[in-house]
Amino acid sequence: MQKCIFCKISNKEIPGHIIFENEHVLAFLDISQTTLGHTLVIPKKHVEDVFSMTEEDMTHVFSIIPKLATALKKTFHADGMNIVNNNKPVAGQTVFHYHVHLIPRYSFEDSFNVHYVNNAALYTPDSLSELKEEIISNL
Ligand code: AMP
Ligand code: ZN
Repeated sequence: MQKCIFCKISNKEIPGHIIFENEHVLAFLDISQTTLGHTLVIPKKHVEDVFSMTEEDMTHVFSIIPKLATALKKTFHADGMNIVNNNKPVAGQTVFHYHVHLIPRYSFEDSFNVHYVNNAALYTPDSLSELKEEIISNL
């Protein structure tokens, strides 16, 4: 995947502010710094999104996240952290090499927010049960 910008960072073809690296995983500062310390964690091998990740790939990526999250929290005295992963354009993915965002949080009014709409009124226990069965049939 020659054109992939995260492969280029991983291969040291272009600079990245790398804060952690092992055989399988790389973590580097997100250029946008949505909040102070905003970091990306990627598998070194090119995998486009969650739908192509194996359990092993995911284990490599997520096993390092507690250590990184704790270091970022300590470094910047963050009060919390959002851990976000976007898959496919409709979900906001713009770089098509799997990555997890670590976004330290400093206040309810800082430069990141999460907006969940509560649609609970549209569902009943029976309709949720149907949804559950449909999903299970695809596992
Ligand atoms: P997403 O929209 O979830 O695909 O996130 C892609 C992220 O990659 C954005 O937050 C960008 O700021 C970040 N990004 C793009 N190019 C670079 C780069 N060269 N170095 C660091 N971060 C980058
Ligand atoms: Zn890549």
